[in-house]
Amino acid sequence: MQIHANHKEILNGKTTDIYFHRTEEILKKEKKNPYVVAEVCAKKLPDKYKWAIFTGLSELIELFKDKKIDIKALPEGSVFFEKEPVLTIKGKYLDFAKFETPLLGYICQASGISTKAARCKIEADNRTVLSFGARRMHPCLTPVIDRYAYIGGVDGVSAVLSAEKLKLEPKGTIPHAVILIIGDTVKAGSAYDKAIAKGIPRTILVDTFGDEKTESLRLAENLQDRLDSIRVDTPSSRRGNLPSILQEIREELNNRGFPDIGIFVSGGLDEYCLKALNPYADGYGIGTSLSNAPTINFSLDIIEIEGKLVAKKGKVAGEKEVLECERCGNRKTVFFRDSNKNCDCGSKMKEVTKQIMKKGKVLAAEELDVIRDRVLRELRFLNV
Ligand SMILES: [Zn+2]
Repeated sequence: MQIHANHKEILNGKTTDIYFHRTEEILKKEKKNPYVVAEVCAKKLPDKYKWAIFTGLSELIELFKDKKIDIKALPEGSVFFEKEPVLTIKGKYLDFAKFETPLLGYICQASGISTKAARCKIEADNRTVLSFGARRMHPCLTPVIDRYAYIGGVDGVSAVLSAEKLKLEPKGTIPHAVILIIGDTVKAGSAYDKAIAKGIPRTILVDTFGDEKTESLRLAENLQDRLDSIRVDTPSSRRGNLPSILQEIREELNNRGFPDIGIFVSGGLDEYCLKALNPYADGYGIGTSLSNAPTINFSLDIIEIEGKLVAKKGKVAGEKEVLECERCGNRKTVFFRDSNKNCDCGSKMKEVTKQIMKKGKVLAAEELDVIRDRVLRELRFLNV
C-alpha cells in the first residue's frame, strides 16, 4: 500500500489544494491569464529565530522545468531574514498557479530542518552532530529530512538510505535492545567488538541498567583503547542534572587513564541545551527536534500584474531585490526599479538573489556539497 504521493503526482500538480484547480477553472472561463510577478517570503520566523537558512530550491526547480517561467532566488543554503523575498517567480499565472502548494511545501519544511540543523551545529561549537530523527516522521521522508539536516551542517546521519543518497557512512551505535537481550552492558560491549567490522567506532550505551559512570568505567576497563566512546541516552525521568552526570563521567574516565574515550549524548536534545553539555560532551545525536523542526512559514503573493503594481492588504507591491554590502555586511530589501544601490557606509551593495531559471531553463543548478559549503561558510558569522 503506497499512501504517499509519488514524484509524478507532485509534478502533475495533484498534491495541490483544490482552490488552485478552482482558480484555473474560473480564470479560464473568464479568459484571464495575465503575466504576473509573485514573491515568496516569511513574514515571521519561528521561535524568535533571528535568521534562517533557505533550502529546498533544487527540488522546487523540478516543478517548473520546461515551463515558461522565470525564477530569481537566493542561492540555496543562504541565510535570510524575516520579510526578505527569497524567491521571485514570473510568468503567466496559470503556468504556475496550481504548483503553489508543492512549491511552498518543498521550501518550508526543508528550510525549517536546515535552519534547526544549523542552529544545533552552532551551539555544539565544533562537536559532532548527527541526525537521529528518522523514526519520528513518515519513512518516505527519511532521506528528505536527512538531506536537509546534512545541508544545514550536521556531520552525519543514522538512516541507511539517507547515508547512501548522501554518499556517507551511516553513523550509529547500538540500541538498548541489544543490551537488554544480552543482559549486561559490558558483555554487550564485548559482543559488539567481536561482531562489528574493525574500523567502525565502538560506541556503547551506558544507561540501560546501572549508573552511567559505573557502566562507563566497567566498559573502559574491559575494552581498554578499543572503546571509542560511551553514549549517554538517559531518559529525562532519570536524568537529574545531565551536565553534572557527564562531568562526573569525564573526570573519572580521565583520572583512570581513559582521557581519549569520548562522550556522546542523545535523547531529547535541541540547540537550547547543548551549551551546558559542551564542556563534557564530544558529540550529539539529535532526533525529534531536527526531524520535527518548525517549518518556515513562507507564503507566495502576487506583487505585479501585467507590469502594474498590485498587492493584497499587508503586502508591499512591486518586484524587489535583496542587497548586501560587501564591506559592512548590511542588508536591505529594495524596490527592484530603485537605482540607488549604495550602502549607508558609502560602499556599493550587490544583489544577493540570482537568476535561477529563465523560461523553464535551469541556469544555476548546484551540487549538494556546494550548497552545504555555503551554509558552513555562513555559520561562522552567525549565532543563535
Ligand atoms: Zn556597508
